[in-house]
Amino acid sequence: MKMKKLIALITMTALLGASSIVAYAEGNVDCENGKHEPNLEFMQEADYHDCTGGFKVDYYPCIECHVVIDIDGNVLENFDPVSLHVPGVEAQMEWSTCNGGYPDPCFICEDCGYLVLEDGTNAFYVEGDGKHNPDLDGECREANYIPCDGGYKEDRYRCLDCGNFVFANGEEAVRTEGDGKHTPDLENVLEPNYIPCYGGYKVERYVCIYEECGTYVNAEGEELEFIEAEAPHPLEYVAKVEPTVEKEGCKEHWKCTACGELFADAEGTEWVFDFELVIDKLDKVEDDSDVEEPTPEDPTDKPTDEKPTPEDSTDKPEKEESDTVKTGDSANVMGYLTATLAALVVMVSVLLKRKNA
Ligand SMILES: [Zn+2]
Ligand SMILES: [Zn+2]
Ligand SMILES: [Zn+2]
Ligand SMILES: [Zn+2]
Ligand SMILES: [Zn+2]
Repeated sequence: MKMKKLIALITMTALLGASSIVAYAEGNVDCENGKHEPNLEFMQEADYHDCTGGFKVDYYPCIECHVVIDIDGNVLENFDPVSLHVPGVEAQMEWSTCNGGYPDPCFICEDCGYLVLEDGTNAFYVEGDGKHNPDLDGECREANYIPCDGGYKEDRYRCLDCGNFVFANGEEAVRTEGDGKHTPDLENVLEPNYIPCYGGYKVERYVCIYEECGTYVNAEGEELEFIEAEAPHPLEYVAKVEPTVEKEGCKEHWKCTACGELFADAEGTEWVFDFELVIDKLDKVEDDSDVEEPTPEDPTDKPTDEKPTPEDSTDKPEKEESDTVKTGDSANVMGYLTATLAALVVMVSVLLKRKNA
């Protein structure tokens, strides 16, 4: 806090330097004979505490000579402390012999808010000795240094004093930077896989032998860049496949004949997963009432509205067919038979219903 004040005063002095020279030159203010003039921009609140001393009223630097004055231009006294601090609540500070810190315990002064010791004196930051106490039987983080990426060259253990991970010799664990050079696995060459619509690598490549790295590199260990696609996908239309009870169907889509990617649109902008195209199998119940695939049992529900008589079925086979069966010209005979059968089934069911009523 005192440090802050000092910095503020230094800043003030620096900022005011130029203007005060001008003032002197013009001879507007003369502090020696007249009154000091407060610089209102640099007002500081009264900061006196018995334990720290300070100024008892709000204070300003004189705009001309920078002496500390009150709002009326009176020079102020900076009082010395007259008592020790008043230790209040204990401060939660991390202290260890290795990393240092504020002494433990330390407290917050009830009067000024500084960190203080139990005896009311100022608490000062203490440097650590840098010697850690590794818990060699405890948690261990294995060395993970690889030349291309860097890492820790030795195993690390928790320090029993500060809790940080440190090397077994008690030294602070420092990460070692890599040199960025990869080590190609020369026994496993990967062929170029560039496809104009998909991108890829245009030259033979290898994987860096360090598992944590896995970068694609050339034989010299230099990282290879994935080359972006530069052509549209050549798309092939794949028509919708209706699902059946036994088999899933498939939505219509477009497939790239070069890279195999799937799209929902002919422009190749809406990329889709294959599982997104699957149409679920039909379940049995739904299939029975399906209009498009009539079975002999199928029309049982349909003609009930019309309550057909045997005559109806002979009169209107074609109408029945055009309403419910859309299987083309060749299906005329089938349609007729189906309609007749339907009428019969209805008749039977009507009879059964009457019997039950
Ligand atoms: Zn002055
Ligand atoms: Zn205090
Ligand atoms: Zn430590
Ligand atoms: Zn590497
Ligand atoms: Zn493609």
